[in-house]
Amino acid sequence: MKRFWKFFVFLALFSQSGELLAEQHVRIAVGRFQAQIHIQGKDLKIQPMDLPAFTAANELKCTPASKGFRCGGKLLLTNKLRVSSAGRLKLNNHEYRRELELISRTHKNKEEVLVVHPIPLEEYLVGIVSSEVPSSWPLEALKAQAIAARTFALWKKYERIDLPYHMESTVLDQVYSGASREFDSARKAVRQTYGEILTHRHRPIHAYFHSTCGKQTESAEEGWGMSLSYLPGSKCPNCKVSDRHGWSTQIPQTQIDQAFKSLLGEKVKEIKILSRSKSGRMKKVALIGRNKKKTVTGVDIRRMLGYSKLRSTLVTEMAKNSKGFVFKGRGSGHGVGMCQWGAKGMADLGRSAEEILSHYYPKTRVRRMY
Ligand SMILES: [Zn+2]
Repeated sequence: MKRFWKFFVFLALFSQSGELLAEQHVRIAVGRFQAQIHIQGKDLKIQPMDLPAFTAANELKCTPASKGFRCGGKLLLTNKLRVSSAGRLKLNNHEYRRELELISRTHKNKEEVLVVHPIPLEEYLVGIVSSEVPSSWPLEALKAQAIAARTFALWKKYERIDLPYHMESTVLDQVYSGASREFDSARKAVRQTYGEILTHRHRPIHAYFHSTCGKQTESAEEGWGMSLSYLPGSKCPNCKVSDRHGWSTQIPQTQIDQAFKSLLGEKVKEIKILSRSKSGRMKKVALIGRNKKKTVTGVDIRRMLGYSKLRSTLVTEMAKNSKGFVFKGRGSGHGVGMCQWGAKGMADLGRSAEEILSHYYPKTRVRRMY
């Protein structure tokens, strides 16, 4: 209920004409550790919650401990540490500005340390646009990406307002690689769209996007059973230049059997596509063994085989050979919302960021949030 009220207050403020909000911040999960965490940075300041602060010259090594952390031989009985530096903080070959939070928690019966990076939304977006699409793309495509990513981040923030973080730093949400991956063209796109988000009936939309649709994007209804009128699926003739437009992959029989072992309980003899969505993506698929048969969704098949193995559910041909199964298909990603390569194609043809966005997210408008 608490979460609902926060979101409600936000929407009420935002819906009032001309009312601008304060600049937003977001919290990004940048790591999870069950063993040692190694943070490097100049003149580190460590502030454990409810305990005295201390400093470390160039590095901090901590391990999860029961009800806290063990840092440099010291046991700290607290569930949160703030690590800050006037310079950059380095963790897992990524760099971050200002501050990282280490949160001690039990997750799936294991003690772990969750590392969260709090960051102003506009600064985060420069990193997102730099990581999600090539910096050499036309400015209007980068601006469309910035607006979509800002909208996505804001929606996630209010959906997870009471959680320790709002977004993952991986393809599960949006790919964020830290402060060392920031390009001037992305900075320009974010600056030129400052505070702009996509709205439908005064609300920020679920601004999904993906790499390459392969001819037509998927409706949210058919892809995920979400009834969202601004994600109806759009024709996309402009992503042909993507190297992911058409693909073929051989998956060995052993990997197929392993992937579906818990579901079918025996070797997979045949995989049959039973139905397809309007855009041609697999909807229902039958897994057939010697004695058993199971029906699953196309989305499940892709998740079980691995997102990198099966690039999309738009499988156009499937055949069995002596080594296993060969899948031929088009596109990369879930196919819902803006096709990034299609957006690039539209920008190459002279379309503006707003035209690109209204093509992939019809019935929406761009509004300035702050
Ligand atoms: Zn496309």
